Amino acid sequence: MSQARRGRVVAHFGREWAVEDEGGRLVLAYPLAKCRELPCVGDWVQWEPTDAEHGRILEVLPRKTLLTRPGRSGNLRPVAANVDQVLVVLAPEPAYDLLLVDQYLVVCENRKIDTCLVFNKLDLIPEEHRSMLLEGDLAPYRSLYPILLLSAKTGEGMEALRAALKSKVSMFAGQSGVGKSSLLKTLVPNQTIRIGELSASRHRGRHTTTSARLFHLPEGGDLIDTPGVMIFGLAGIDPPQLAFGYREFQRLIPHCRFADCRHAGDAGCAVREAVEKGKISTSRYQRYLKLLEKLPQIS
Ligand code: GDP
Ligand code: ZN
Repeated sequence: MSQARRGRVVAHFGREWAVEDEGGRLVLAYPLAKCRELPCVGDWVQWEPTDAEHGRILEVLPRKTLLTRPGRSGNLRPVAANVDQVLVVLAPEPAYDLLLVDQYLVVCENRKIDTCLVFNKLDLIPEEHRSMLLEGDLAPYRSLYPILLLSAKTGEGMEALRAALKSKVSMFAGQSGVGKSSLLKTLVPNQTIRIGELSASRHRGRHTTTSARLFHLPEGGDLIDTPGVMIFGLAGIDPPQLAFGYREFQRLIPHCRFADCRHAGDAGCAVREAVEKGKISTSRYQRYLKLLEKLPQIS
């Protein structure tokens, strides 16, 4: 009789995946050859045990969403599945890179993943300058995305973040040094314990090179952590998708004169016209043009 059951992939270490069964127990499993998709963190899978601590993955269940990164041989590798929202973290230092921020937003828009901007290290900004924060560089984003202002260090604003994470599968993205791991430590106390148990008891610590993990939040919901800077890249994004990823362009695109308008100086472009009339942000539009140039050229 088949022992197949449902589980969830909560970590990935090289050739093994940690699968959590419905009772919350972890086993190490590998996918069978007939398993059509490579599993990734956040996946729901059908699996069967081989002994008390090991199992094999028979099937990756259909995914709601998928984030990928470019692999070594140019193909796309899955990084995290079933993510509901990506929180793009930025901070006063290191200096924020809005081109990177837009890139995350574009990818998520096209993958039907919600996004939110998290401005961390608020403690570094004197009280009297805080009101200016949302009137400067971040102003164009205010009508497009929720923005949370907070500090992992002082705890200010963390309640709003906890509320935003509740009952959802979330992930942080952002450049190195903005405070992603500090936020994770605050949100998930004792985060290393369970995975630590797995590696200590069975695999002599070689699990330190894990690529991604899923943590359960005490308030409900999950947080996926991907070490290092998570590079979604723009691989797989074509020019129409790039334009679609700029939310404020979406309602204008149907009004461009040509269906294949690239919104880059094309005649009769409704996006350009809105920029010229000051109806959409020039800085966002400039970044769109930069990303358009960066897109892998399709010949
Ligand atoms: P990550 O690379 O995005 O994971 O960033 P880290 O969490 O490693 O944080 C980078 C540095 O910023 C560390 O020295 C943290 O102590 C510091 N940091 C994180 N959050 C805050 C904050 O809210 N305020 C201040 N002042 N520093 C912070
Ligand atoms: Zn156009």
